[in-house]
Amino acid sequence: MNNSELNSKVITRGKEFFSTISGEKPSLFNKGAWMGKVMDWSMKNETFKIQMFRFVDVFPSLTTGKLLTDHIREYFGEEKDMPPVLSTGAKVAGMLGSFGGAVLNKVLTTNIQEMARQFIVGENTKEAIKNMEKLRKDGFAFVVDVLGEATLSEAEADIYMNTYLELLDSLKTEQQDWKPLGASSGSLDWGHAPKVNVAVKPTALFCLANPQDFEGSVVAILNRVRIIAKRVIDLNGFLCIDMESYRHKDIIIEVYRRLKLEFPDYPHLGLVLQAYLVDTDKDLADLLAWARQNKVQISIRLVKGAYWDYETVKAKQNDWKIPVWTIKAESDAAYERQARMILENSDICHFACASHNIRTISAVMEMARELKVADDRYEFQVLYGMAEPVRKGILKVAGRIRLYCPYGDMVPGMGYLVRRLLENTANESFLRQSFAEDAQIERLLEDPAVTAEREKVARAAKQKPEEKGPGGLKPFFNEAMVDFTRADHRAEFPKQIAEVRRQLGRNYPLFIGGKEVKTSDTLPSVNPSKPSEVVGVICQAGTREVGDAIAAAKSAFPAWRDTAPAERAQYLLKAAAIARRRVFELSAWQVLEIGKQWDQAYADVTEAIDFLEYYAREMIKLGQPRRIGNAPGELNHYFYEPKGVAAVIAPWNFPLAIGLGMASAAIVAGNCVVFKPSGLTSVIGWNMVEIFREAGLPAGVFNYTPGRGSVMGDFLVDSPDVSLIAFTGSMEIGLRIIERAAKVHPGQENVKKIVCEMGGKNAIIIDDDADLDEAVPHVLYSAFGFQGQKCSACSRVIVLDAVYDKFIERLTSMAKATLVGPSEDPANYMGAVADDKAMKTILEYAAIGKKEGHLLYESQVPSDGYFVPMTIIGGIKPEHRIAQEEVFGPVLAVMRAKDFDQAIEWGNSTKFALTGGVFSRSPEHLDKARREFRVGNLYLNRNNTGALVGRQPFGGSRMSGVGTKAGGPDYLLHFMDPRVVTENTMRRGFAPVEADDDWVA
Ligand SMILES: Cc1cc2nc3c(=O)[nH]c(=O)nc-3n(C[C@H](O)[C@H](O)[C@H](O)COP(=O)(O)OP(=O)(O)OC[C@H]3O[C@@H](n4cnc5c(N)ncnc54)[C@H](O)[C@@H]3O)c2cc1C
Repeated sequence: MNNSELNSKVITRGKEFFSTISGEKPSLFNKGAWMGKVMDWSMKNETFKIQMFRFVDVFPSLTTGKLLTDHIREYFGEEKDMPPVLSTGAKVAGMLGSFGGAVLNKVLTTNIQEMARQFIVGENTKEAIKNMEKLRKDGFAFVVDVLGEATLSEAEADIYMNTYLELLDSLKTEQQDWKPLGASSGSLDWGHAPKVNVAVKPTALFCLANPQDFEGSVVAILNRVRIIAKRVIDLNGFLCIDMESYRHKDIIIEVYRRLKLEFPDYPHLGLVLQAYLVDTDKDLADLLAWARQNKVQISIRLVKGAYWDYETVKAKQNDWKIPVWTIKAESDAAYERQARMILENSDICHFACASHNIRTISAVMEMARELKVADDRYEFQVLYGMAEPVRKGILKVAGRIRLYCPYGDMVPGMGYLVRRLLENTANESFLRQSFAEDAQIERLLEDPAVTAEREKVARAAKQKPEEKGPGGLKPFFNEAMVDFTRADHRAEFPKQIAEVRRQLGRNYPLFIGGKEVKTSDTLPSVNPSKPSEVVGVICQAGTREVGDAIAAAKSAFPAWRDTAPAERAQYLLKAAAIARRRVFELSAWQVLEIGKQWDQAYADVTEAIDFLEYYAREMIKLGQPRRIGNAPGELNHYFYEPKGVAAVIAPWNFPLAIGLGMASAAIVAGNCVVFKPSGLTSVIGWNMVEIFREAGLPAGVFNYTPGRGSVMGDFLVDSPDVSLIAFTGSMEIGLRIIERAAKVHPGQENVKKIVCEMGGKNAIIIDDDADLDEAVPHVLYSAFGFQGQKCSACSRVIVLDAVYDKFIERLTSMAKATLVGPSEDPANYMGAVADDKAMKTILEYAAIGKKEGHLLYESQVPSDGYFVPMTIIGGIKPEHRIAQEEVFGPVLAVMRAKDFDQAIEWGNSTKFALTGGVFSRSPEHLDKARREFRVGNLYLNRNNTGALVGRQPFGGSRMSGVGTKAGGPDYLLHFMDPRVVTENTMRRGFAPVEADDDWVA
């Protein structure tokens, strides 16, 4: 049959389908009920929709009357201003405004619970089984799923698994009494399908599932899926592995393949594939080929996919290729394409068509008929609580329909509920268009391949011309994050680490005035996870060499100053391209020299690239003299000049990003740099030499002088020829530099300018309505990512009394699931700290903390290397040392606050003001935090590390620094002096007339 014949059959079938259900509406769109009204209001009013769905999300946490009343007011305003759909219930009760909102509370509570019940088949096993039995009586089979979204610990993963095992035990006995559906004899539904059918969310079976540790994640998930599978097989049931976000897709496919090979003869093991993923055509073809090769029967449930918004937002945030189709009809067309592929392979692949879209369903029915696929090789599935007319229609036509029935507690259920609400109210939703908007049937049934082509053309016509940034460059965009969903990115790390390892132990010279300079004094730099491994042996500059470097910088300065800013910017752009080409190798150096985890190392390199790209563009902007003032007969030019020789003193914790960031800012502004890397990361410092050298930076503009301790540092700071000092490091050294630099030495021409970033004692506040599924992993990551050795790291978590116990229990349980070990192994969450000195200091602080408070968790550590345990200490008060002093390591102080005001007060109670975080779903509390939590970088409902250039310019005030923001629009100004030239343009009473637009006010 050709395409157009098939398409006409599909349309005819679709029309018949519509006619059989004409006049019926899914209960979700029934405007006679509260839920239908909310859906209707949400579709008409985007702001209400956002508030309503956010309220539904926070609702399970509102465990007291006051919390509920406050949130209703904060989300929807005063009762008199509320949309009628919310206040109607209370109005009907004639009690609006009475009892301090108690009636409204009750009305909303009842209605939201009712709404959740619409989609959830029961809150416990007994109720779920009872309701599923009812469904069976109406002719519907079920696939049951235990609600459980974010699993944060091994204990939670066990609970999730055990719930399945208990459920299966109950179903084993119950199923014996069930009459098979659609079959006159035997024990199987429709003569071929197991009566018990369960679906599992694989990431709920392992809390640290992460493509960075691909193998570890596969093995851990498989270990629990296998136990469930055995129980399913034991009762001759069906097990389907659900598909979740794209991040875990390849892990899940691999789990399925391995499971299948463990039970090669058992046919009832299925996997979900999502048609909205661009990868799926290939994934499906690969899976079918694999099944054929291994002679196994597989089963695929094809869905379009439930996380479309999440996937697009996440990809855009990280500058990854968007993994989903972006035109809805492309997903529909992909679905039909893939459905055909499965049906053509029906001898080895059973098919579950999961869709509520009548066009999609009709297409599958017609393709199956055309390909003569036997009934026992495919079935239809829809979600419980949705599309009742569609499911009735399918039951009538195909006879084989299964409802996907989630069950369990409301709290994990809310994530599921919000996804369903979004799905049904999305503009593109087939159900919305068919049943809420009565779109034309012809349009709804159109071949999606045709719709997609038309929309592509329309989209291309609307495409805006490419935006231009400064100097005609592409506008600044953050470098893409590493994408571990890509096998090539995963493979690159071990390869580059091995490659770098072959180069370990080399000798590194200084670099002064464009020449390599060797000294007899050398210092080894070692791998902190394995101190016997020498990463490099670095020549150390003494005061003589530093003096030479300052002289080289000074003599290069006039020419460099007079080089046009746009030309200086070009060197940075070249350097960025070099770093980009070497990104994995540069990351590998960081893994070995300072113990960064793969993702942390890569993020450091991309941040370095961002600084180069960003400052290049900023300098092009600033390099243009600006005309100011508008008086006639007068010409005022405002422009910037570099300061001279800049000493750049870099830390070890962001060895490339901060080092290159400070140096490139100084350089592009026209200064010449004497760069002192940390002794712990001097080989990475040498990477900078390589990059600038290859970029062709003139001799003397960048000089590399690693050197020992304070003698050499002081010499550099005190030099009368140094005009600017850019420093990032500890408060003690920062203050010392500021003090020393204030002294004017003989021959000094400039007052020294200090750009200084120092420490922090950063807090994250956990409000009483916080989403703990989000807060716990983010706090863990903020506190222990790169061993807590970031100035932005969370070192205090201030938890409101109402959620303290729950939060701590989940935080420590998640911590227990993590491993500490060499960071080159991606299974390790935490690695070694910088060196033996850091190790000693951190351990001392941990001991102080244990005395001041009580130990909540302490991890095991390997014996070799500079490892300290992940340490969580409770019972800490603001006056404790552990709450005031910067530790710079993996020690987290936990404080219990009585309310949000106290939490903010404690948040502000240290001498630092660098980063802070708040997890809250109270709009008023978030506003209060914006106003009163006075830190340089405040993060609401996310982790408080990982600031991005241009998006989160970074830096603090008070004792955290002098208030400059790296990666922000003001940063370069610190490296230059502004000048103004005023010319009197009047000659003998005659002044040139200036065009209006020449003047800059
Ligand atoms: C039995 C069953 C099991 C399920 N299991 C899973 C699962 O394991 N994993 C999972 O992710 N989902 C699962 N789902 C949910 C499923 O993904 C959604 O219900 C489905 O996408 C809705 O598609 P539709 O054909 O019913 O509706 P339609 O309205 O035709 O399609 C809506 C879908 O189109 C896609 N879409 C929307 N906008 C765009 C756009 N601009 N560009 C491209 N595509 C777009 C989205 O996938 C959206 O959900 C399951 C659904 C069922 C019925």
